[in-house]
Formats: sequence, structure tokens, C-alpha cells
Amino acid sequence: MARYALVPARFWDGLADEARTGMAVVISGKRIETIARADTLAADIRRFEWPDATLIPGLMDAHVHYSDVMGPAFLAAGVTTIRDVGNDLEWILAQRERHATDLAAGPAILCCGHLLDGPVAHWPHMGRPHASPEALRAAVRHHIDRGVNAVKLYAGITPDLMAAGIDEAHRRHTFVIAHLGATKAEEAIRAGLDEFEHLDGCGVAWRAATPEEDDAMIDLMLEHHVVINPTFVVWDRLGRILDRSFHHDERRIWAHPCHLALWDRYLSRFGAPEARWRLQEVMVHLKRFLRRAHRRGVTVALGTDTPFPHLVPGMSVHDELSMYTDAGLSPVEALRSATSVNAKVLGIEKKTGTLQPGFFADMVVIRGNPLDRIDDVGQVLCTIRAGRRFTPDRLLRKLKTTFDRKPLGAVTQDLQDNVDGKRPS
Ligand SMILES: [Zn+2]
Repeated sequence: MARYALVPARFWDGLADEARTGMAVVISGKRIETIARADTLAADIRRFEWPDATLIPGLMDAHVHYSDVMGPAFLAAGVTTIRDVGNDLEWILAQRERHATDLAAGPAILCCGHLLDGPVAHWPHMGRPHASPEALRAAVRHHIDRGVNAVKLYAGITPDLMAAGIDEAHRRHTFVIAHLGATKAEEAIRAGLDEFEHLDGCGVAWRAATPEEDDAMIDLMLEHHVVINPTFVVWDRLGRILDRSFHHDERRIWAHPCHLALWDRYLSRFGAPEARWRLQEVMVHLKRFLRRAHRRGVTVALGTDTPFPHLVPGMSVHDELSMYTDAGLSPVEALRSATSVNAKVLGIEKKTGTLQPGFFADMVVIRGNPLDRIDDVGQVLCTIRAGRRFTPDRLLRKLKTTFDRKPLGAVTQDLQDNVDGKRPS
């Protein structure tokens, strides 16, 4: 069993307010054996020294639609765990299994299976339609029987379906996430929803609301312990989809050419400028709401909605972190969302998400200090997933063979149908 020590300039456990210096982490097999002062390390242990680097827990993206060509990019970005929140059920379960045994395939996967939608499935490959509470309850039971980590309800779910879906999942002690549309946030929260995505359905967050209006919504969120997963980066990129600067983002080498082609066609073919301007305008309100909700203690997860346009797998987590700090969170608060807070939301906080003896050795070595300067988080030197080390340059070489094949996964087909104008309205 491989045993080695990492000796970074700075060490951050995923929880503390500040990084510590002079620390070493000893890894044995898949797990962290000890965390101790570097000057107490045994002389004969193999050691990797990282002067001017910070060691932090592996990042997590809590909102992904996975495709099998994304694995190396996530690892290169320091992302060691993802939660897929909408995909073909059997396909994503098989991917979860593959990634559990093959560490080099990509990050660890948690998944929800299909998007469980209302009478019409907005995304026919990722989603499934449900016309009645009974049909939805049966789908929830089936998903839980197959072993999903959480249930995802989608935009067409009406209040009666919402109540039925949440009730059925909670009877089986399963966490429920929703992208709201036909149900407002207030109704969904009162029905017991555990987490909602994109701040959709949360009216006050989308307009110039008063602090009192914000607080009424935040009070409700706090009372019901609901988690928010804002995914700012997807709204920002959709609003600025025609912004040429994204085409010069050198990180695009990590996105599959097929996905890049879909991004290029995604909104430029249709959609009035007003729809984009609206999204550009609304970002300031969403950020204001996030800052206030976070300050008052609402649990804020962090996800991206990769591979929607201009969201490079893994790297878009860095962009979302940057947007959180733009909204007024400190770098360490933003990083907690992507590590220890996400782990708790995903229910894996007893084994990963923080750096502690006995936990999985999921971590990332970053040049500089992202606790001071959040943009440093993009300078990944080495990612460790369950004890195994990966460097971006070696992953890039692997990417070339990965990109020889077309991306599998329902999201690619749904995005393709969308740009071809075949998606139901
Ligand atoms: Zn999504």
C-alpha cells in the first residue's frame, strides 16, 4: 500500500478561518493517516514538498450533468467529487460504479438519475414526464430502489406533484433537490424540499427587492433548513453567451470539441437580445440575495450546471468560487461551500470534504494561496483522489485519447436536440 507525505507551504482543512504553515499530511493507501508538524515526519518516508503551494480538500461540484468525456478535466481542476443532478438513470449508475473502481476515470460520482418532471419532460433524454402524483411516487420509489443518492424534481412539477414527490422520498429518507418552475420556492420549502437549484422560483432574488422582502424569504429558508445551490455561472454565461472573450479562454482545451460546437450554436441561433440582457441585469440581484442569505446563515452549496454553455468541466467551479467572492463572500467562505459544506449537503461529510485522519485522501495542491486570492484556485499543481496523484499535464495527455470518442450521456443528446430545434416547448 502506497504511503507518502505531502509537505505544502500552507495547509487548510476545509473548515478553519485560515491556513496553517509547517504542516504535513501522511497518506496511506486511500486515506489520510496523520496530519502533523512537518518537522516530526520520519526521515525515511517518501515526501512531496510543495513550497509556495496550499493544500486544500478536493473541490466538489454539486450540480453537474455528466458525460464520460469530462473525467480528466474535473481532476485537472482539483474536483474530486461531483453530484450528477439529471441524467439517464441506468447510465449514470454505471458511471458511478466505474468511477468508484477506476480512480483515473474522473471524480467520485453521486447521482440522482433522471430529472423527474411534470406532464412534459423539458429535456427528453435527461428527464421523464409524470402526469399524476401516483406516477411520480412510483418513479421516486424506483429511483431509490436503484440506489440514487438523492431525487431531483424538475421545472414542470406542479405543487401537488411536488408535495407527493417530497413525501415519497422522505418516507425513504432520501434527500430531494428541485429546479423549480411550476412551483414557487415558498410552496416547495413548506412542502419540505431539501435543496433548490439556480434560485429559480425564488422571486425576490430576481428583482430589486427590499431587505425586508429578502428577509421574509430567508426566514422561511432558515426555518425549514433548506439549502440553496445558486449556480451563478450558468446564468452569467447564458446572459453573456455571445461575449467573444469566452472563446479566448485557454481552458477550453478541456471541453470536448462536440460540446464546444454545441455552445457556439446554443443561443446564437435563437433567443431575443432582451432575454440575454435580462440575465445580465438580474445577476446583481442574485448576488445581493446570496450575500444576505449567506450572512444570515442559509446553507449555500456550490455547483455549476456543467456542460451548459461556456462551463468548462471542473474549471467552472473556479469561476463559481470567484462569483461567490464577487457577491461578497470571503475566499474562505466560498471555498467552504465547495468543500466541507458541499460534503455535508451531499451526506458524505464523515469521509471526505475536510482533511482529517481516517478520511479519504481527496485533496488538491494549489500554487499560491486561494484563501487570500480566490483566483489562485485555478493554479492546480496536483490533485489527489483517494490517495492517487494526478497532474494536469499528464491528464491533458490522457484527454487526447478520451476526445477521440464522441461524448456519451443524455445531456449531450438533449443539448444537441435543443440547438437543432427539436426540444419540446
Ligand atoms: Zn442542471
